[in-house]
Amino acid sequence: MDEHHLSKRLSRVAAYVPEHSRVADIGADHAYLAAALVLNGQSNYVVAGEVVRGPYENAQAEVTAQGLDKQIQVRLADGLDAIEAGDQVETVTIAGMGGSLIAEILERGQDKLAGIKRLVLQPNVGEERLRRWLVNHRFQINAEEILEEDGHVYEIIVAEPTMIPIQYDERELVFGPLLIEKQGPIFRRKWEEVREREAAALAQMKTASQPPADKIAHFRHRLALIGEVLG
Ligand code: SAM
Repeated sequence: MDEHHLSKRLSRVAAYVPEHSRVADIGADHAYLAAALVLNGQSNYVVAGEVVRGPYENAQAEVTAQGLDKQIQVRLADGLDAIEAGDQVETVTIAGMGGSLIAEILERGQDKLAGIKRLVLQPNVGEERLRRWLVNHRFQINAEEILEEDGHVYEIIVAEPTMIPIQYDERELVFGPLLIEKQGPIFRRKWEEVREREAAALAQMKTASQPPADKIAHFRHRLALIGEVLG
């Protein structure tokens, strides 16, 4: 993979970045997404934020090698600290991390979210925790996608600020308000696998000399929820 050939996962993230948007990609790593957005003509201003020095240096080298130093600002920074007021960023992308880490980055950087029009988030796990953060901070989920690549299932969550308080019920938070409506084959396969895994864990717990009552109740509740959704 490189900026000319993005992975399916990153190309789907890129697909939700509006044309001519000013972007901050947080956790940019190699800066392939940032570079692709500029090379595709989707953006001519991207902040590529990276907290670890090694990837930051790789990103800077990649941007320079592609001749994109004018369009891409590579910054060594923690989370949304990479964004400066003068950047006038409209879209933030955060991909390839756990949902909890993405939610923490958003939580710590709330002051930088004031002018943001769209978040394009791709949590590897922990989607429920991320959806809870979004709904608690007045972001509405406007698009969701689930995809499979190299045996991994990924979700993409696109959220935009809203003045109207949003409410999602537990099922919508766990499964995704839009994914649950569509219930495509990848969605069904993912949750069938979760059901199998959690049923096995529950069976194992019940055999313990002192079965953990709280955990058992939690797993029973989860399995009932999955059963209701998958039918
Ligand atoms: N976004 C790329 C992708 O989806 O392919 C890279 C994903 S990589 C697994 C996660 C990157 O996020 C790593 O390079 C890591 O150093 C960076 N990262 C983790 N926490 C961060 C934070 N708080 N601020 C900025 N970057 C962070």
